[in-house]
Amino acid sequence: MASGSKDAGPKKRRVTEELRSFQDKWTMNYFFVEFKTKPICLICNNSVSVMKEYNIKQHYEAKHANKFDKYKGQFRQDQVNNLKRKLSAQRQIFTRADRVNMLCKS
Ligand SMILES: [Zn+2]
Repeated sequence: MASGSKDAGPKKRRVTEELRSFQDKWTMNYFFVEFKTKPICLICNNSVSVMKEYNIKQHYEAKHANKFDKYKGQFRQDQVNNLKRKLSAQRQIFTRADRVNMLCKS
């Protein structure tokens, strides 16, 4: 039967997984969205290779905070929505190139 010794405790479990997933608040805070498991900046469309708030915040503060910090609340949400729409429109251009071709002759 079992004695009092316990040497094989489940010690390996950590909360690193949580650090690796995109958090919705980053969109409002730093204008980032998740795209193909990477965080991508809505403003300049650059991706940040590490899924960490620290890196994302750094990018935002270094490049965009002076311009975008003035947008608060609903204005910020509007900016986010605008940029999101632009980004998805851009991406659709690649997949719908032939259809755009038809629309473009005028
Ligand atoms: Zn950016």
